[in-house]
Amino acid sequence: MKSIPEIFGSAVFNDEKMRERLPKDVYESLKKTASSGARLEPTIANVVAEKMKEWACEMGATHFTHWFQPMTGITAEKHDSFISPVKGSDRVIMEFRGKELSYGEPDASSLPNGGLRATFEARGYTAWDPSSYAFVKDGTLFIPSVFISYSGEALDKKTPLLRSIQALGKQASRILALFGGASGTTATPTVGAEQEYFLLDKEVYLKRPDLITCGRTLFGAPPAKGQELHDHYFGAIKPRVKAFMADLDQELWKLGVLAKTKHNEAAPSQHELAPLFNGANTATDHNQLTMSVMRTIAEKHGLVCLLHEKPFKGVNGSGKHNNWSLQSDTGVNLFEPGETPAENAQFLLFLTAVIKAVDDRQDLLRMSVATASNDHRLGANEAPPAIISVSLGTELTDLLTAIEQNATFKGRKKVQIEIGADVLPKIPKDTTDRNRTSPFAFTGNKFEFRMPGSSLSVAGPNVILNTIVAEALDEFANKLEGSSDFKADLNKLIRETIVKHKRIIFNGDGYSKSWELEAEKRGLLNLRTTADALPCFVKEENRRLFEKYGVFTEAEIFSRYQIMLESYSTTVDIEALTIIDMVKRNILPAAEAYQNELCDIILKKKDILGEDSTGTEKAVLEKTSTLSKNLTGLLGDLEKKVAYSKGLAGLPQAIFCKEEILTTMEEMRDVIDSLERIVDAAYWRFPTYNDLLYSVN
Ligand code: ADP
Ligand code: MG
Repeated sequence: MKSIPEIFGSAVFNDEKMRERLPKDVYESLKKTASSGARLEPTIANVVAEKMKEWACEMGATHFTHWFQPMTGITAEKHDSFISPVKGSDRVIMEFRGKELSYGEPDASSLPNGGLRATFEARGYTAWDPSSYAFVKDGTLFIPSVFISYSGEALDKKTPLLRSIQALGKQASRILALFGGASGTTATPTVGAEQEYFLLDKEVYLKRPDLITCGRTLFGAPPAKGQELHDHYFGAIKPRVKAFMADLDQELWKLGVLAKTKHNEAAPSQHELAPLFNGANTATDHNQLTMSVMRTIAEKHGLVCLLHEKPFKGVNGSGKHNNWSLQSDTGVNLFEPGETPAENAQFLLFLTAVIKAVDDRQDLLRMSVATASNDHRLGANEAPPAIISVSLGTELTDLLTAIEQNATFKGRKKVQIEIGADVLPKIPKDTTDRNRTSPFAFTGNKFEFRMPGSSLSVAGPNVILNTIVAEALDEFANKLEGSSDFKADLNKLIRETIVKHKRIIFNGDGYSKSWELEAEKRGLLNLRTTADALPCFVKEENRRLFEKYGVFTEAEIFSRYQIMLESYSTTVDIEALTIIDMVKRNILPAAEAYQNELCDIILKKKDILGEDSTGTEKAVLEKTSTLSKNLTGLLGDLEKKVAYSKGLAGLPQAIFCKEEILTTMEEMRDVIDSLERIVDAAYWRFPTYNDLLYSVN
């Protein structure tokens, strides 16, 4: 049996394999291309393609695919085989040309494009992203790619991510230069995406059309035992789940994914996988791979992996904590306070840049995690609210307050700080890491953005984070580059920034009602739903921001806005149609059958035992029939609303979905849950929450 270090990355055409298999000059040239983002020379591409194919075929690959990340939020692939006929013979050889490695034209015209491909010229192209390694999976060579239109507009999630990484690197360089380049000359964002998920038994799952079609249950009375006893969280992992996790680790390791931590999460049947962090681009690719491999491995074990943010009402939803930091080209974590006064000063400047960015652009961060599915999670059980705030821990907050007020810091030691001249007192890492209720927490040497949902591509939130921090650093660099007294101006800038943006800092309980009121007093945004959050994307000041840093063009912004609105309304529409079908063909008939049986019993009992003996059955019958009547009424309302919604589009449709369709569905859910509690189990046609949440043994 192979050892894990041997298995790790064995299916990846990584640096080691490139160095081994490519001629030295080709290797050097490819490396340069990968780091500069320039175009690969056709002659070089031909050699790389040939060597890559050789390796892939040894790994059992017969096909290749440009693997890209369209606006659906998941990945797309179209497989082509390597076969090529040999002229003048009936034979084929395996061939892969540089052109095929570099470019693809999958057409893929049915993928969402928000109007960007309206003209006949607007073909969709894929292009290899050499900064992310190719790999072999299930007999196919996967080539990580961007997806763009003929005119170069981004049709995917990777292109803007790469652009934002570049923008951030450029501004970070300016700040690093101000400190003499001691920590490096440029920086790149690092990301560790913790992935939560549910595992259900496939057989049980297949009996719930709502789970199959919508990924979440649209009804279901609370189980007798939910997560109240906290016995699942970090509990012993069941053998079947353990076997799944072991397989998953092996597969991910082969693909070079740094799968590190696994444990049971808060809700029954809920689990988490956390990788070690990586550069933001690779981390995003790897998270997509992780989600996809999770699904396939689950199938192999007779399980289903649910990545929806809120599969079950009343228990924990699933998130994807996005750990984010900045690493210099010499490997320094720029959010590590450091040891010397200069390092400390640089740390404080980067820290306050993030605070400023988050405060200035709360709306965009909120927008970046807005989806129909995440709306059910944010603000519910053990999930951050829809309000953005930053938690720093009390010690670091006190330190910033002392700096702001030019007062002494009363930590372990009383100290007066002059930034750039004094060493900061040590802030122990664990004092920054206790607040689990914050949507955006500084956790010692990185930030943890906890709002992204479990099914979300982390590209979105990281594009926003990178861009808004780039903007803050840009502003800082503009102020400091011409300074004649750097230390004094630096102190002034940090102080001013704290004064201006301290309202965003909150270390208290983010789940509490009182915070909502306090946040409102502070003037912080509370964009509760996707329909509330999305419009900020197209606000003029935000459009200017993205254009300034070359992350999105105006056309790209509007197209994405359309896609997100449409995706929201379509999701709600599908859910409504699903519940309509389930109610009509299963729930109401079940209730009716039960009512018929009750009538029979009442008649029989009356004959034999007299009228007085039928009280209990009559009460149940009355309740069931009232509920059925209510449900029938609501069903009619919902059908009308769904029909009306079809005539709408864009934001009005999204608002209608939120205010009318989802509210009616919630009312229906209450009635259905009451019916579920009263109708004889022999008549109820769907697995209950008990059946679902405890389906894996
Ligand atoms: P904690 O337990 O305090 O949340 P961990 O060290 O366990 O911190 O990390 C949690 C996640 O954060 C992991 O995915 C980890 O790889 C990631 N992480 C750690 N350091 C960084 C960093 N510098 N940049 C991005 N992510 C990081
Ligand atoms: Mg975490």
